[in-house]
Parts: sequence; C-alpha cells; structure tokens
Amino acid sequence: MKPEFDLVLAGGGLANGLIALRLAQLRPDVRVAIVESGPAIGGDHTWSSFGLDINEEQRRWTHPLFAHRWDCYSVRFPRHARTLAVGYGTTNSERLAAEVARSLPPDCILTEMPVVAITPTSVTLANQRVLTASGVIDGRGQKKTDSLDLRWQKFLGQEVELAADHDLDGPIIMDATVPQHDGYRFVYTLPYGPRHVLIEDTYFSDGRDLAPDLLRKHIADYAVQQGWDIVRVIREEAGILPLAIGGDIAKFLDEGTPGVARVGLAAGLFHPVTGYSFPDSVRMADMVAALPDFSSATIHRACRDHAIRVWNSRGMYRILNRMLFLAAQDEERRTILERFYEHPDDLVGRLYAANNRLTDWRRVFSGRPPIPPLRALGTLLRYELGFK
Ligand SMILES: Cc1cc2nc3c(=O)[nH]c(=O)nc-3n(C[C@H](O)[C@H](O)[C@H](O)COP(=O)(O)OP(=O)(O)OC[C@H]3O[C@@H](n4cnc5c(N)ncnc54)[C@H](O)[C@@H]3O)c2cc1C
Repeated sequence: MKPEFDLVLAGGGLANGLIALRLAQLRPDVRVAIVESGPAIGGDHTWSSFGLDINEEQRRWTHPLFAHRWDCYSVRFPRHARTLAVGYGTTNSERLAAEVARSLPPDCILTEMPVVAITPTSVTLANQRVLTASGVIDGRGQKKTDSLDLRWQKFLGQEVELAADHDLDGPIIMDATVPQHDGYRFVYTLPYGPRHVLIEDTYFSDGRDLAPDLLRKHIADYAVQQGWDIVRVIREEAGILPLAIGGDIAKFLDEGTPGVARVGLAAGLFHPVTGYSFPDSVRMADMVAALPDFSSATIHRACRDHAIRVWNSRGMYRILNRMLFLAAQDEERRTILERFYEHPDDLVGRLYAANNRLTDWRRVFSGRPPIPPLRALGTLLRYELGFK
C-alpha cells in the first residue's frame, strides 16, 4: 500500500522546520508532514547566527526568517573592547512557524501532538493515529546521552522595553566586564529597537544548573549599570545548550531508533564552542532537499554520514573547549576569550562559522599563552589517555 506521506518529520523544532521549508521550496512534489508536541512549530526561541556562518544562497532562502540584522557586533573585556565588522542576525520561532504554515497544507502540520513511537516508515501519535511514510526523520531535539562529553552554555534572557533610548549601534555579543562566577560569565545584548533590547545573562559552565531568579537579578543590575531604566519585561527565554569537549558520535547516533535519520541536536549538529545550531540546521536542510529519493534507507545513510563528517571536522574546536573547560582555572576562562578576541575579524568570523584554516589554528595556539603551556599540554595529554 502506498504510504500516506513521502516524509514525516517527528518534532517540529528548528531542524525539521527548516527541512520542511527547504523541501517546499525545492521539492514541492514531496508530501511532507511535521508533528510537534508543543503548541507551535519552533517553540518560543530566538536563533541568532553570524554573517559568515551560512553562504549567500542560504542567506537568500532563509531571509524571511530573519527578524533583525546588523552589520557589526561588539565585545567588551576588562582589557579591551572592540567592534567587529562581521554581520549578525536573529531569527525566531514565530517566523519559522509562519513560513512552515505558508509552505505546507494545514492538515500536514500537527501541533500539540506528541509522537509516541517511530520506525523507519511510520510515526505513531499520542492519539494512536499512525502516519505511514517512505522516510521518517527524528528531529526531537536534545537527547540525554553518555556518548558525548559535554559542558554547557546556559542563559536566561529578557526582552525588555526601556524608558529611554539605549544608543547601542549593534549587538554586544559578549560583555565580559561583569563579575565572573560559575565558569565564564558574560552579558549578551541585542538591540531590537531604540528602546527594545534582549539582555541575556550567560555562562559557559561545567554544570547544567540554572538559578532563574539570580539571573533575573543580574539582568536588572546590568541594566542599571548601563543607565537603562526597564519599564516592562516583554518576554523571557532560557537555554542550556551543549558544548562538546569530546565524545563518540557514531555511538551517540546509534542510541536512536535503528534505521531512523536524526537531525539537529538529536544528531549532535551544533557548534562545539557556541552551542549554536542554526547554521548546521540550514546546511542539513539543503542536504536533505538534494537527496535523490526519500526512502528511509537513503535519508538515514545520508544524515548519519553528514553528522559524522561534520563532527569529525570539528576536532580542533573540541580541543579549544578542553583548554577552556579543563585546563583553565577560575578567571582564566575569560582570559582565553579575551585573547582570542585580539585576532582579526575574519579569523574570529571563521571560528564562529566552524570554518578555520590551519593558519588560523597556528595563530590561535601561538603567541602569549593565556594559561601556562605545561598545564595546557598536560590536560590535553591526560584527556587523550582517558583520564578525565
Ligand atoms: C532559548 C534558546 C536560545 C537559543 N539560541 C540560539 C541561537 O541564538 N543560535 C543558535 O544557532 N542556536 C540557539 N539555540 C540552540 C539551538 O539552535 C536550539 O536548541 C535549536 O532549537 C535546536 O534545534 P532542534 O531542531 O535540534 O531542536 P528543537 O528546536 O528543540 O526542536 C525539537 C522539537 O521537538 C519537539 N518534540 C520533542 N519531543 C517530541 C515528541 N515526542 N513528539 C513531538 N515533538 C516532540 C520539541 O517540542 C521541539 O519543538 C538556542 C536554544 C535555546 C533553548
């Protein structure tokens, strides 16, 4: 019997939302359904990315998702502050949901509908309906795992309205002049309008614990320091994003349902140093939309190979994380970032795009060491030998 759909996307988050959009653009003949347990496709997030993270064509097709774009961004550290001529942009769940709604027939978008079981060719919903398909993709987000060695970027952000203009020219991606604790701490600010900003209190931490009230207080204190009078909190978001220091990607992928393709965080597709996954999800969507067919075997093989290839290409970023999370002590984490931001704009841009060259790494690992070299080498060696 012919399956009901060509492709069923389990989980209506960022990765599957982008796959649905790209397929609608390039392969409108493919019958796609997307199933989300929450009330809306994409949840309620902002997803930012840097100008160099995706290519021209990817910028074009994701353009409707971008709510804000800036030509430059700034960083602030105790010893220096600078503005980098690298673009930055923000997309959000509302736009993703609107674009998916424009791209798929209404009866192919199922929300408030948990998936309870999947096989390579079927998805069982909580109401016992079974969707049959040639292929199934699991994009149900972050999975608990022991196969990846993770640390965390955690934050709480508030979008606020101010009593007067803030006078910011662009985002402040890291204001690390704030007191340090629980790892590397910085405040991230996006100016959405003259009196409308997103302020996030952020930590690169060893643990996942988040104390929302403390972070809210930090945001209020930071606003006062900047001379900003908060009139109203418009919305709030919190995240605990994985950062990778090591792991076994094949083992991680094998933890999924046998024969079912995984995408997004479920496939370990995130930047090891920033936890960002928007660019990886854009590339994955391009890759899926270019497949010659959507049988479960083709999709599973292609997605698995892609995830392994991407993971294997990012070893240097995980080494950088070992320096940051294992070798650096106390405030040295901030010093590592401060020194890193002395490099030219294009090298920094390539780090965020996970696209550095050998010459970049030579520059990053030479020069004035932010931590004692013997300690750094000892840490790396111990990790390689399995002493974590
Ligand atoms: C607050 C926040 C801010 C972030 N900011 C950025 C950023 O600025 N830039 C960036 O690149 N990354 C950012 N990230 C990280 C990353 O991009 C996101 O986590 C991204 O949403 C991951 O995409 P995904 O598709 O893998 O998972 P998700 O977007 O989490 O999608 C998974 C979806 O599956 C659904 N689901 C789970 N179980 C089931 C089930 N049984 N049945 C049906 N549906 C199910 C979930 O409800 C969810 O909607 C942020 C993350 C958070 C939480």
